[in-house]
Amino acid sequence: MTESIVEKATKIAKEFELPEGFVKKAVDVFIKQADESLEKQTLRGLPMIPSYVSGIPKGTEKGVFLAIDLGGTNFRVCSVTLNGDSTFDIIQSKKPIPDSLMKSTSAEFISHLGDRIQEFIETHCCDTMQHEGGSDILKMGYTFSFPVNQTSINRGTLIRWTKGYDIKDMVGKDIVIVLQEELDRRNLPIHIAVLLNDTVGTLMSRAYTKPETSGGQTLIGCIFGTGTNGAYSEKVRKIKKFTGETTEKIMVINTEWGSFDNDLTILPNTKYDKQVNINSPNPDFHLFEKRVSGMYLGELLRLCMADLGFQSEEIANPWSFDTMVPSVIDGDEDPKLEKTGKMLAEYVGLSTTSLEERKAVRILSKAIGRRSAHLSAIPCAGLILHTKALEKFPSLDIGGDGSVIEFYPNFQKMMHEALAEALGKEGDSKITIGIAKDGSGVGAALCAYFA
Ligand code: ADP
Ligand code: MG
Repeated sequence: MTESIVEKATKIAKEFELPEGFVKKAVDVFIKQADESLEKQTLRGLPMIPSYVSGIPKGTEKGVFLAIDLGGTNFRVCSVTLNGDSTFDIIQSKKPIPDSLMKSTSAEFISHLGDRIQEFIETHCCDTMQHEGGSDILKMGYTFSFPVNQTSINRGTLIRWTKGYDIKDMVGKDIVIVLQEELDRRNLPIHIAVLLNDTVGTLMSRAYTKPETSGGQTLIGCIFGTGTNGAYSEKVRKIKKFTGETTEKIMVINTEWGSFDNDLTILPNTKYDKQVNINSPNPDFHLFEKRVSGMYLGELLRLCMADLGFQSEEIANPWSFDTMVPSVIDGDEDPKLEKTGKMLAEYVGLSTTSLEERKAVRILSKAIGRRSAHLSAIPCAGLILHTKALEKFPSLDIGGDGSVIEFYPNFQKMMHEALAEALGKEGDSKITIGIAKDGSGVGAALCAYFA
């Protein structure tokens, strides 16, 4: 008897199920890897990068700052006004980085960023900006969402590219210096006062904007967008490897948890995961990210669909699926799966599909999405246990940013399921997850405020 397509999809979906007890075990592995990396840096371990950011906002901060944000997909330039009452106003220009520039040279790439910043300054008169030391210099926070070896509050060298970028001659360079030189060459009155990761910004922004009803201490800022990463506040004395200078007691750590378990001691590894890794520009790195974030969930679905025998130009073309595809399909509750049909026609090149075929794709999408959300809770639970935060605070708050945590159906609910598995139902009930709106822009402004 031949298997139906739904039966075949169900079989593939099973490969994406996490075994009983997996979450707890993986949380233990995360805590161990985090501890090791606070002590000593290794090439393949969790980076756990000290951010030099020590102030956690209260919501009362005030001022006007410039912010730029280089993410996996977009480059944003903003001016942010902090009103001092947990609210802010933002003017911004957001455009995707052209594909050709993601694999260009440092000179071409930095010149493009310079063009964009100059254009913003010329378009939006920024005379209300905070001026540093009474001069005409504008203070800017630079959110840079790739692994950086940070050497001071506004210095850091690029460790490696992720999320599809590959500008070889920038690796090892100080990314602030190259951009500051470009701005100086253009006579733009801007001082890059802070270099920060988007997760650090997310943590800062959530702590500033968090509504009073979400009473808990904001402990973690996390990103589930093109890539995934998280930041949390740590006691400086626990960061044994830190050799820089600070008189502060706490410092925000950028974990770069996309690199969790790069040696695959615990993470699941289906044949689709293996394929994604081989085809990616950074094989054998960021293996946690490759099972979780927006850049990869669409690709996992594409590979599964190809395996099921679906054929189209898009299905034959690596990286052609946006995570919007599984996201919309996962959320399609209509019995006829009309949205699914439309998605498959418009984005996947399958102009007509049977209901059985649409069901099969939905089974795959749900399996990929659920595994991603459950895995996403692992580093969060790990950091909560590592910091013993549940023993210190009556309730805790996690700030999230990125299209996956914001738009993937039930993503936060599924994260809570896995948090409950790791921390118990009672532990999970003390945790709120909230979207940190404009995390990187507002977060960068807040870091500039504290700089
Ligand atoms: P960035 O990572 O550049 O900050 P985003 O947070 O918007 O940008 O994340 C972009 C990623 O989100 C892409 O990988 C894309 O596939 C994915 N994505 C876009 N729309 C959705 C959606 N509706 N649901 C889930 N993921 C999405
Ligand atoms: Mg982002």
